This record gives sequence, structure tokens and C-alpha cells, in this order.
Amino acid sequence: MNNLITLQNVSFSYPGHDKKVLDSVSLDIHEGEFLAVLGYNGSGKSTLAKLMNGILLPSSGTVFVEGLDTKDENSIVEIRKKIGMVFQNPDNQIVATIVEEDIAFAAENLAYEPDEIERRVTNAITAVGLEKHRFDAPYKLSGGQKQRVAIAGILAMEPKCIVLDEPTAMLDPVGRMLVMKVIKRLHDEQGITVVLITHFMEEAAQADRVIVLSDGSVCEDGTPTEIFSKRSRMLELGLDVPVSTQMASLLSEYGMPIDRNVITPEQFLIAFSKVSGGKS
Ligand code: ADP
Repeated sequence: MNNLITLQNVSFSYPGHDKKVLDSVSLDIHEGEFLAVLGYNGSGKSTLAKLMNGILLPSSGTVFVEGLDTKDENSIVEIRKKIGMVFQNPDNQIVATIVEEDIAFAAENLAYEPDEIERRVTNAITAVGLEKHRFDAPYKLSGGQKQRVAIAGILAMEPKCIVLDEPTAMLDPVGRMLVMKVIKRLHDEQGITVVLITHFMEEAAQADRVIVLSDGSVCEDGTPTEIFSKRSRMLELGLDVPVSTQMASLLSEYGMPIDRNVITPEQFLIAFSKVSGGKS
């Protein structure tokens, strides 16, 4: 797999602060990958995300996006087209008074022709399932719908990768589920590379790969099953494992010969039905 984003020995301190928020991080993010980033508050996740499309520049080391150095001013527009960012608070990301205008905003700034913008907005709005709200005022939408508008605005730039920094943290459970469905579909059906920062273990379980940050370093890197098979390590890092994994562990401790390596509700049901005599 080709590398889309490469961090080489990246350290970062905020101006005026001595503390290294990121300390010698080296990381390859492959094209088409769905990467989840976990870590306790303050471990450096948001800073890492902002380094990926040049919002922040490394204090030392290098970040490459398809070979382009984020420190190179001549590459930054190209880099921002390739790597879109979605943040936690949907209200801070809405800039226009009509949904379709909001979605068109970033693409318009790239000076595409009106027909091309129309095509991109239509594709983006369909991808997030908000066709019915195209001409609505964003303030009338729910938090989850607004977050999908924000995602559509990024999609209209046709990025290779979308980096989402806790996009569901402010949403209710239904909003969270629908936003996750959109993210998963973009990855599975459109092949978009996804970097998802989250503190929901259930969301990380849907990724291809999980990394865990601790004190500015990548301390774990593996498949969700590998990462969540180490519950005591996760607790040590201020995190936990998905509820399905916890339930399988509990049943196993109570003597049921159930597969403990389950991370999703579907996997739990299959494992449970195998040992309880039910249908799988
Ligand atoms: P996380 O996303 O994992 O919560 P952050 O990347 O937001 O972590 O923050 C990592 C560290 O950097 C924290 O100690 C935080 O206080 C500090 N930090 C974040 N933003 C700034 C800033 N603008 N100026 C100074 N320190 C900051």
C-alpha cells in the first residue's frame, strides 16, 4: 500500500512552551486505510491531526503528504485539497445560511467553475444523506446533521483523506451512529482514507488499524482486535475496550468458553451463540 501521510521523527512544542507535545513520532498512514487514534486527554491527538494537513508545522522532523513537505509554502494548497479536516463542534464549522452554500464554500474558494461546484455539492450531499435538507438553513438541523454538512463541505473538495477530530463527541447517540455510518461508507465504498480521533472504543473497533498516543508518543499500533485484546494495557493508558469485549471477558471469567477476541456487537452475538447453543 502507498503511503499517503508520512511523519518522520516529528516533535512539536507550542510556541512559548518548552513541553514536547509530540516527541519523535514516526508514522505512515497508507492510502485507503481507516486509522483510529486513541489516547487520554492531552496525549497529543489533536496536535497530531493538525500536523497532518499543515495547520501546524513540526518543530523538528518532517510531515509528508504524498511526498509534499507540509513546511513547503508552495505545496500547502495542494496538501489541504488532499487532506480535509473535520472538527468536534459542528457549529464552529458552518459558515453559510443555506446547507448547499455551506457545502460549496471551500470548493468555491478553490475557484472551480459553477458546473463543477454543482457536481461536487450534489455528490457530497448524497454521500452524507442530506439531499432533503439541501435548501434548509443549517441552524434548523440537529447536531449530527450539521456535522454531516461539515463532512460534505470537505468532501466537495474531493480529498484523498479526511481527518476527523472527535467528530461525534458533541452528538446524541443517533447523531453519532449516523455520522459513523457516513464515515464508514466513505471508506468502504469510496476508498477515502480516514483518520478518526475518538474516545469511543466502539468507533475505533470499526477501523482497520488503531494507534494509541501517550504523552506525545505512539505507544500502541495494531489491528483493533490486537489492541483491544490487551485490556489491562488499555486501562493503564487511561482507556478501555469496547463493551462487547468486556462482556466476552466477563463471561469467560465466569467459566463460559467464549472467544474473548470480539470487538463488535455482531462478533459478540456470533461468539455467544456458538457457546450457548443458539443460532449464529
Ligand atoms: P488531545 O487531543 O490528546 O487531548 P492536544 O493535542 O489537544 O491533546 O494537547 C496536547 C497538549 O498540548 C496538552 O498538554 C495541551 O494542554 C497542550 N496544548 C494544546 N493546544 C495548545 C495551545 N494552543 N497552546 C499551548 N498548549 C497547547
